[in-house]
Amino acid sequence: MKTSTATVVRAEGVHKSFGRTEVLKGIDLSVAAGEVMCLVGPSGSGKSTFLRCINRLETIDAGRLYVRDELIGYEERDGRVHELTDSAVARQRRGIGMVFQRFNLFPHMTALQNVMEAPVQVRKESRAEATERARSLLARVGLADRAHSYPSQLSGGQQQRVAIARALAMRPELMLFDEPTSALDPELVGEVLDVMRGLADDGMTMIVVTHEMGFAREVGDSLVFMDGGVVVESGTPTDVLGSPRHGRTQAFLGKVR
Ligand code: ADP
Ligand code: MG
Repeated sequence: MKTSTATVVRAEGVHKSFGRTEVLKGIDLSVAAGEVMCLVGPSGSGKSTFLRCINRLETIDAGRLYVRDELIGYEERDGRVHELTDSAVARQRRGIGMVFQRFNLFPHMTALQNVMEAPVQVRKESRAEATERARSLLARVGLADRAHSYPSQLSGGQQQRVAIARALAMRPELMLFDEPTSALDPELVGEVLDVMRGLADDGMTMIVVTHEMGFAREVGDSLVFMDGGVVVESGTPTDVLGSPRHGRTQAFLGKVR
């Protein structure tokens, strides 16, 4: 749901190589506040790498990446660009939630403890405050009654919903989802997509890497098709899915439908 025209993410000519393999070959895109951008493309096209660059799990080789007018990993001072300190990068990263294909919950902690951990350790919230908020976040993802369950006692869909609650606990202004339903049994996909749809309805700014074209069509404000490290085409989901202009997009959509 687009609620404002402020830009949350802006990528300008983002390049990234691993050794001699150029994985991102100049990505330009922007995401407005409240926008849900779905990022689709074949395996190996650079989607995960791009998300990882946004929250600086990877550094970029060239170009600029802004989140809310802040250069990720750098600051502009005296007309020059300086690398940020680790603690300044950590502060930037806190504003960005990420949910991965694998749930990555702490196995020795309950759902509630998983959600509370970062607010207490990183944000220095009191245990009482963090507990109350974690309970409300678990309720928001439909897991109020599973607060004391360990990850091994939860289904994949439930674990992924805990992972979403855990990311939200840091009060992010941007949520990145990297194929959040790809590792799930088909019957568990819907419950995770429903939680994401709720977030979108609440105005969260989201970039969602997904092969769920139904979700992209219904929830996405924009759809970006990437292949070979470039943005091949972008537009509204209806336009890109309904009348793809490029052969590569047509070929890909023919396979995922
Ligand atoms: P996607 O998410 O679209 O499937 P990725 O961003 O995971 O694509 O990967 C893009 C390319 O970058 C692939 O060829 C992958 O092998 C390569 N790659 C990704 N991460 C690394 C890494 N840490 N080291 C070397 N190559 C990598
Ligand atoms: Mg990927």
